[in-house]
Amino acid sequence: MAIWNPWHGCHKISPGCANCYVYRRDESIGKDASIVTKTGDYNLPLKKNRQGEYKLTRADGVVFACMTSDFFLDEADEWRQSCWDMIRERQDLDFHIITKRIDRFDVCKPADWGDGWDNVTICSTCENQDRAEYRLPILLELPIKHREMISEPMLEEINIEKYLETGLIEHVTCGGESGSKARPCDFRWIQEVRRQCIRQGVPFTFKQTGAVFIKDGKTYHIDRKDQIPQAHKSGYSYYPGMGTADAIAYHLPDRKDLFEGLSRSKFRSRFHLSDSDREYIKEKGIDTIRSHAADFVQKRLAPENPENDGKQTPMKGHPVFLAQHACACCCRGCLEKWHHIPAGKVLNDEEQAYIVDVLMEWIQSGI
Ligand code: SF4
Repeated sequence: MAIWNPWHGCHKISPGCANCYVYRRDESIGKDASIVTKTGDYNLPLKKNRQGEYKLTRADGVVFACMTSDFFLDEADEWRQSCWDMIRERQDLDFHIITKRIDRFDVCKPADWGDGWDNVTICSTCENQDRAEYRLPILLELPIKHREMISEPMLEEINIEKYLETGLIEHVTCGGESGSKARPCDFRWIQEVRRQCIRQGVPFTFKQTGAVFIKDGKTYHIDRKDQIPQAHKSGYSYYPGMGTADAIAYHLPDRKDLFEGLSRSKFRSRFHLSDSDREYIKEKGIDTIRSHAADFVQKRLAPENPENDGKQTPMKGHPVFLAQHACACCCRGCLEKWHHIPAGKVLNDEEQAYIVDVLMEWIQSGI
């Protein structure tokens, strides 16, 4: 990856800006980050070496533009056109522009932008639900060939599934905040967006834990050098079909604790076998019911991204369906929340057998 900072300095416009790393870094060297200036790298995409070859080549990877400012900052209006010219000239490079000012894109785009340029990805940052509701509809409406969304620092749980459903967002990235004043990032928020991405088949990157990371209700203070590696090691990034989630370490819940927890849940505890369910079980025999359970689990739960996930288990019609809702084995989201089995992976034989055992324990306790 290459970084191209044509100008430096910015203005805070959003909750995510509160502890902006550009401000933090500039303050540490006595510089005022609110003063916006062109940099010596302004012409970087066109700079050449002594042999007359471009310094930046495709081998350098994606070119991230404006990482110490915002490409659509109004103070940079007079400088931006030349940047577009350079981007147009370097069709061989992929430019990635991350912005909190997607609402300025329309007035800032070049005259010949048309329905977008193939070598430009625009990534809108959405640190909370409010900013997602404001910025993502704009991002989706604009003529852009490649759209991404990033939530970093992620400040709360965010639901973006309706925007992912459009199929227009190619990638989602989430991560916590770094620095001494970092706000906490809860792993549940990361998992929630990840599940939305899995359901919609959108690649997801868990980029960094941030400095204050909450997992299972416990707060961890993570050293700067470990924030990216720990997120990477967790296996919680998701690239469809790549098997990345197979590396996720997890522990199944204690069975007694699980059933106690389920009995305390208002929703789960309302499921019971009816007389006709008991009749059905008696008629078919418990071994047949077990084989039905194994079949449902294999077909409707075990795939990496089950069809219609979240809605694949009917509320009635078979005792196993009731057991699935009662035991939180009805979809991959519930399976992850209650049983800790990660979404986004193909369930192996052991995991499928465990689920069938849980379902049969519930059924047998009710006949
Ligand atoms: S938009 Fe980005 S660079 Fe600008 S102040 Fe906010 S966080 Fe910092």
